[in-house]
Amino acid sequence: MGFREGTQTNADWLTPAEADDYRTTPNYSATIEYLERIASAYPKQVRIESFGKTGEGRDLKIVVASKDGVFDPEAIHASGRAILLVQNSIHAGEMDGKDACLALLRDILLDPARAPLLEDVVWVFIPVYNIDGHERRSAYNRINQNGPALAGWRANGTNLNLNRDYMKADAPETRALLRLFHRWLPDFFVDNHVTDGADFQYDVTFLLDVTPDVYPPTAAWLRESVTPELVRRVDATGHLTFPGPIFLKDAADPSQGLAFEGNPPRLSTGQMILENRPGLLVELHMLKDYRTRVTGDYELMRALLELMNENSAALIALNHEADRSAESLGSVEARRELFPLRLAGSGETTLVDFRGYQFTRVKSEISGSMAIRYEPRPWNVALPMETGVVVAVSVRPPAGYIIPPQWTKVIDVLEAHDVKLRRTTASWTGRVERYRCVGMRWPGRPFEGRHPILPGGNVERDFGVFGKCILSTENLTFPAGSAVVPLNQRLSKVAIHWLEPEAPDSALRWGFFASIFEQKESGDARVLEELGRSELAKNPSLKVEFEDRIRTDSTFAGDPAARLGFFYDRSPWGLANRVGEYPVGRLTSLDSLPLR
Ligand SMILES: [Zn+2]
Repeated sequence: MGFREGTQTNADWLTPAEADDYRTTPNYSATIEYLERIASAYPKQVRIESFGKTGEGRDLKIVVASKDGVFDPEAIHASGRAILLVQNSIHAGEMDGKDACLALLRDILLDPARAPLLEDVVWVFIPVYNIDGHERRSAYNRINQNGPALAGWRANGTNLNLNRDYMKADAPETRALLRLFHRWLPDFFVDNHVTDGADFQYDVTFLLDVTPDVYPPTAAWLRESVTPELVRRVDATGHLTFPGPIFLKDAADPSQGLAFEGNPPRLSTGQMILENRPGLLVELHMLKDYRTRVTGDYELMRALLELMNENSAALIALNHEADRSAESLGSVEARRELFPLRLAGSGETTLVDFRGYQFTRVKSEISGSMAIRYEPRPWNVALPMETGVVVAVSVRPPAGYIIPPQWTKVIDVLEAHDVKLRRTTASWTGRVERYRCVGMRWPGRPFEGRHPILPGGNVERDFGVFGKCILSTENLTFPAGSAVVPLNQRLSKVAIHWLEPEAPDSALRWGFFASIFEQKESGDARVLEELGRSELAKNPSLKVEFEDRIRTDSTFAGDPAARLGFFYDRSPWGLANRVGEYPVGRLTSLDSLPLR
């Protein structure tokens, strides 16, 4: 710590976790009480503000640390200082970041050696994001984790995982966070977590996305400069970092190496890719003791603040360019390029030095399969890590999208993200591209309160089957009040990800368009019997198709409703159901639209 001489002593300003020798972490009111003590002692450098309410009605708060008492985001941007936003306890059993932020804030204010961390950066942090989860304290919330004594709960008050909610924005906490984010428009974002997985020597692991969907100059800076510097500076303090989240390809056999995991925008740092901002995912190791984890996170955030100070002008310029690049997505030139919707590992691996623990594999009478037992002896090896990433799904962006006004919940999510919309002032008919989607299968069990059809990758279990969506150009009419989403805006990538059906967290995948797949009219068996007989008599090719199907598909052959439906589905009555017609139009131009 090393506090300055004077009346203040270490003991006066110990954080609650330090005062209890890291056995416990304070509850929300004790956390805020400590922060308010700091804010009232240093009103010129620290301000606490509310930014909304949780589902249970608790006040969401940020702490702003600014060297000169300027706390207004606009004024800070105008002053040329970069803004860091740190989010803690989105998973409220993982409170390490909160206690690290309390200690770092205290040291910045009391220790002259730390004061320069605010020279060219304003630091904003959310002490606890998932407060309702945080206050559901128990010794039994985190079976994987080595302390503190009581921990919060992973999900919010309605049992939603807020780190799966960024894109769909179902939770009031997410909505408040998005408002906060756009009010401050930070230059760098950090999300602090604790792992749930393998054992290894590292206490700090982290990920900075440098995948093909990140603005390339930003990705280059993060890969070549920020990542190695964070490793170097944190390791120099006696901690041990690994610059990548450690997902074993086989949880029972670490020698198989490390797997690639996608970062879709349901996750905070995946959302940052769409916000054109660097997002640092921190995963502290669950089996290290609480002091080691909190101080490791402290050093990582300290090192990041140093790097931001050293590079503030370059960082601000990069973010500005990334925004301009996103604003150009609706342009004629950009529409010739493929926009990456979904990434996948290519299978290409790189050998990386890995510091694990020795292990034995045994046949388990519990699971019936192989189990792993770690031993407290280092296992320093070169392991294959999946570093090759390919674009699995891409799309040519339109000039904009048009959404009929009755799809209020779809439009509401775009508004929650501050995507700029315009409305048509009259009914409009024109040529648009639109999808017809077939072959969807929904999972039987809920995920995050819905039944989404999600792609593979970062999957927890069965996520259904995404069939296909085929694009065609049609003349369509859209009612007055339809929402038009131009892509010449900073948040164009959010609009594309929400409205392109095959994007990993699209409105269609999350079920916001589920009703388009429902057949609302159907034929009585007696009526369909007549329809079938008459079609067989007058349509020889349909007769051949029907008979082939009966011969080759025994399920179909044994299903009376399916056999009757064969004729209805192909008739004008069947087609009138418009099953799978995606109602959003892709515009090739906004010129002829009646817009306000
Ligand atoms: Zn977590």
